[in-house]
Amino acid sequence: MAVTNLRCRECGATYPLDARYACERCFGPLEAVYDHSHLAGGDVAELRRRIQAGPQNIWRYADFLPLAEGPPGPSARLASRVGLPAGCTPLIRADRLAGELGLREVWVKNDAANPTHSFKDRVVSVAAARARELGYQVLACASTGNLAGAVAAYGAALGMETYVFIPADLEEQKVLAAGVCGTNLIAVKGSYDDVNRLCAELSGERDWAFVNVNLRPYYAEGSKTLAYEIAEQLGFELPDRCVVPIASGSLFTKLAKGFSEWRQLQLVSGSEPIMSGAQAEGCAPVATAFAAGQEFCTPVKPNTIAKSLAIGDPADGPYALELARASGGQVEAVSDEEIVAGISLLARTTGIFTETAGGVATAVLAKLARSGAIDRDERVVLLITGDGLKTLEAARDTFSAVAIEPSVQALDRALAAGVA
Ligand SMILES: *Cc1c(COP(=O)(O)O)cnc(C)c1O
Ligand SMILES: [Zn+2]
Repeated sequence: MAVTNLRCRECGATYPLDARYACERCFGPLEAVYDHSHLAGGDVAELRRRIQAGPQNIWRYADFLPLAEGPPGPSARLASRVGLPAGCTPLIRADRLAGELGLREVWVKNDAANPTHSFKDRVVSVAAARARELGYQVLACASTGNLAGAVAAYGAALGMETYVFIPADLEEQKVLAAGVCGTNLIAVKGSYDDVNRLCAELSGERDWAFVNVNLRPYYAEGSKTLAYEIAEQLGFELPDRCVVPIASGSLFTKLAKGFSEWRQLQLVSGSEPIMSGAQAEGCAPVATAFAAGQEFCTPVKPNTIAKSLAIGDPADGPYALELARASGGQVEAVSDEEIVAGISLLARTTGIFTETAGGVATAVLAKLARSGAIDRDERVVLLITGDGLKTLEAARDTFSAVAIEPSVQALDRALAAGVA
């Protein structure tokens, strides 16, 4: 495979491909590095054909993922048949949404269509496959919600024991979806940031593969598959802009890394997209630092209905800030009311019911469009990362039902009274 080693983002020190996430010299985060020279300078059409002939899931991008032996399963062909294949989710042209926002071209990448209904299936697929290569028996995570469900499900599919750590106040739908897979579900009395600290400590004491702690460099690479898919679905063209929800900032930054890798190989045409990050006002450390012109985030205590984005001390915050600025984008925040309005707007115009994180992204898209920050002619991709069935409570008061006796007259009376 093409992955060669891990490298510190800060000082450039290199490390072997084992379970580690921080540089021993400077504590900077580690990132996977590849040698794609065997793909460069060759026949681009041939390389595209090879990708298109791959399995209908993220393993079609195996050349760009940090696995030593390749996708799980007896052969690459069978990678579609083993475990819970993620990816190849729909990219939908949303003309009615675009029309309402005064834009020409908006696409919705519906990652709620993954096996456990969020984009976390991509990152967990890669981390779990690498954990198995490294010989781990136990998979674990610190979760804001969706990661819990994904780790529990992929553990079940691969026959690995799992430990899932969640904040005690998580939405019930997310707790149930994880618990039913037979995981060891640990509800921690505290915020996600407390859960994360506990897991960082545990990763030094237990021989467990924490997908987003000691396996984080591998986990993070899974997000790049969203970039590859978007580019492939647009006919190997890059969009002009992506609107992306930010929790730790990993998805936001890795999406850009994916676009950039393919651009360097000349697999895609177009320039690198403008990156617009989306946060909830109740947990907006990156948006706040962006607005203040700071290079680092000041940690906050989250209080928002967008629980899957409620990370008060985002690990990739500085890199998200750097990317938003360098790409000509921004990081915006929206209120809980705007998030609910965003969920309704997306559902009304596309039929896609998203969770609060998707409401954040949709509301930020609407805000940027209405303020004129997005040029009318841009081709915009909106990332919908999770399913509305996971945060049902948020949709509760967005409509009312008409209750009637079972007769035509009762219906006519109710409609005439303008109840509907
Ligand atoms: C985890 C998650 C994100 C983004 O998380 P990052 O930590 O920034 O990679 C976005 N949306 C949903 C629904 C999530 O669960
Ligand atoms: Zn370093």
